[in-house]
This record gives sequence, structure tokens and C-alpha cells, in this order.
Amino acid sequence: MLTILPRHFAIITTDQQQEGFKLEVYLDNNATTRVDDEVLDTMRLIYIYDYGNPNSLHRKGSDAAQHMEDSRRILAKLLGVKSKEIFFTSGATESINWVMRSVARLASEKRNKLIIGAVEHKAVLKTAHDIARIHNLDIAILPVDEKGVYLLDELEKKLDETVLLVALMSANNEVGTLQPVEEISKLVRSKAPRAFLLVDAVQSFGKSKMDLKAWNPDFLVLSAHKFHGPKGIGLLYAREGRIPFPLITGGEQERGFRAGTQNVPGIVGMARAAELAVKDLEKNIEKMRKFQKLIAEKVETLGGVIITPLNNSLPNTITASFPGILGHHLLNALSLEKIYVSTHSACSSSESTSHVLEAMGIKGKIALGAIRISTSRMTTEEEISFFLETLEKVLKFLGFDR
Ligand code: PLP
Repeated sequence: MLTILPRHFAIITTDQQQEGFKLEVYLDNNATTRVDDEVLDTMRLIYIYDYGNPNSLHRKGSDAAQHMEDSRRILAKLLGVKSKEIFFTSGATESINWVMRSVARLASEKRNKLIIGAVEHKAVLKTAHDIARIHNLDIAILPVDEKGVYLLDELEKKLDETVLLVALMSANNEVGTLQPVEEISKLVRSKAPRAFLLVDAVQSFGKSKMDLKAWNPDFLVLSAHKFHGPKGIGLLYAREGRIPFPLITGGEQERGFRAGTQNVPGIVGMARAAELAVKDLEKNIEKMRKFQKLIAEKVETLGGVIITPLNNSLPNTITASFPGILGHHLLNALSLEKIYVSTHSACSSSESTSHVLEAMGIKGKIALGAIRISTSRMTTEEEISFFLETLEKVLKFLGFDR
């Protein structure tokens, strides 16, 4: 029998730390987050009591269906959209694939251009290349400036009646840059009114304000594990009547648009996580911003380079570089101290440089030395002080010479 035990389950008190116990500091919240206890408690009840298949006709099924539809209503309300515009998926990657692959089937000789951003997540970039090959589409890559912000004049030049889909993110996962989604959307609507607009809002939810009315997308994707919800569950907001075809076919779940028994505990967990994420948003933003500032000050004192544009970024993200030191060496050295940061995206290899930094014109030693530190509303002052102290020690150990 396989027994899965947590790798580190000791609860360490402050006294114990002073006696030499090491605090574990998780600063990789853009990769994933810890599930909130309240979310787990709610999910546990569903697993234990209301575990029915939401498509079964008996009471156990309708109870599960009720939880699922309540969750849909909660999420729709939080986003300011209609319940029937919310579809449950396994996460943002599936939602992105669904939109891009089904919209591609509408391509014609006159409508065959995809506009995708240079700093998008691989879920968008790889899917774009795949559908371009399958459906013979043209890809136009939208460049960014040195802060990672999409160039609106370049977008304007690329927009015309041949555009089928524009796929852009609201906030970057690697450096935290915020995009001018409202302006982008207005441009798309005025210059290419028939184009679909897909917004990847995965990194925004729970960390910055989202205004779907102003953003006015056709599609928007979210992933629960980025906001202290469970993994393997996400959603697609598709404006009424916009999603043309299912990606996954089979049963009639999700009104025939996404087959397969729904992950009810995950869905309920995502709705609870979403409620908690927006509950004290202002306060949480303020706290994460304070930590970002403290980290930035330390990086500067130590002679590092700050890559994240702090005046236009997610409050929880700071990407910095210590030129001459390799980012993954620093990551490994910190990991030995039980401090977890990332080089760039968790989905990319440790050896390659980041396509995001490359698009921002950041090369050589600065790109190779980059690490991403991403906090969450759960990060504590104690963790930040321990990180800052250890960072200094580790850089000395690695021989960082400013
Ligand atoms: N989009 C962005 C901006 C992301 O950061 C991620 C995850 O890192 C994804 C999409 C994909 O999300 P998931 O892996 O949950 O499908």
C-alpha cells in the first residue's frame, strides 16, 4: 500500500527557530499557492458527504449539482458576469487550449491572423503555433517595451479585418508587469470588431483589481491553484454565445460544451478560494506591496538589479538579478536553506533563458542571474526577514561581487 506523507510536517515555533530550527519560506506563489485551510475544510465536506455525480438524477446527485451551481453563481457574481457564461475546466491551460483550438476552426482565408503577446505563457504561445500549423494561420507577435508592457502602437498596426483572435495576458507571471487591458480591448474593438479577445487573467485574480466590464473580453481564463485554491480546476468565462465548439467531447456536462464528470469538490474549493481572495483584497495588496518594497530595498543594497517595474506590477512579484551569479545556483542555494523562489516560469527548464526577459531586451548576465520572488497574502513578516537575512548570506557564500 502506498502511503503519502507530507515531506515536512513539523510545526516549528518561534522559540524553536531561535534554537536553530529552520523556518520554511515559500516565495514561489506565482507557480502555485498553498490551499487555504477554509477551502480544504469546505472540500472535505463535499468529498465525505456530497460526493455524488452532479449529473445523477437521485438526491445525492442533485445535492452535488446544487453545490456546483451555487459555486458557478458565486464565481459569476465575483467576476460581474452571468452564471451561464462560466464553464468549469481542469485549469487555465485547458481553458486557453479550448478557446484557441475552437476559435481556429472558424478561420477562413480572409480571417486567419492570430495576435499573441511576446511575453505570454507557454499555454498560449505553444498552442498558437500548433493551431497555426493545423489551420494555416498567420501569427503576429506583439512586442513589449523594456518594462514588459505591450506596445499599443504596434498592436494598432497589426489590427485589421483579417484578425481572428487576440490572446493577451493581464499580468505577467515571470516579472509581474501589468498590461493595459482596457486600452488593448478598446483598440481591438475599434480596429478589428470581428476579432475575438482572450484575456489570460491567471496572475491577476486575488492580487490586483480586475474590471471585466472595462476589459470587455470575449474569453477570460483563471486557475484556482494560483489563488489558494486546489490544483486541477479552473474556469473559462466565455461571453454568451461566443464559444463555438467543445474541446472535450462526450457527455452533456457543462451544457454540452465540456464533457466529463465535473470535479465538484474542486469547483466548490475554487469558489470558496475566490471569495477569500477578494475578501480583503485591498489589505492584502497593501501587505504584499510592503514586502515587495522591503525586498527591492535589500536587492539594491546588495548590488542587485531589479527587473520588475515596481510602479506597474503585481504587488506580490519581484524579479531581480545578481549578475555574475546564475539564477538557478541562487535558487538551489536558497532551497538548501528551505527558501523557495524560482528562476523564471516553473514550466521552463533551468538552463534556458526566459522568453519574457528576452522580449524585454534583457540579456546576458542579467537574464542568467534572474530570480523571481513571489509572495502571497499568507506570507509573514517573519518569513520576509528570514529570507532577506539568508539572501545576503547565500550571495556572500556564492561569491557575489557587485
Ligand atoms: N497563464 C499564466 C499567466 C500562468 O502563470 C499559468 C501558470 O503558470 C497558466 C496560464 C497555466 O495555468 P495552469 O498550469 O494552472 O493550467
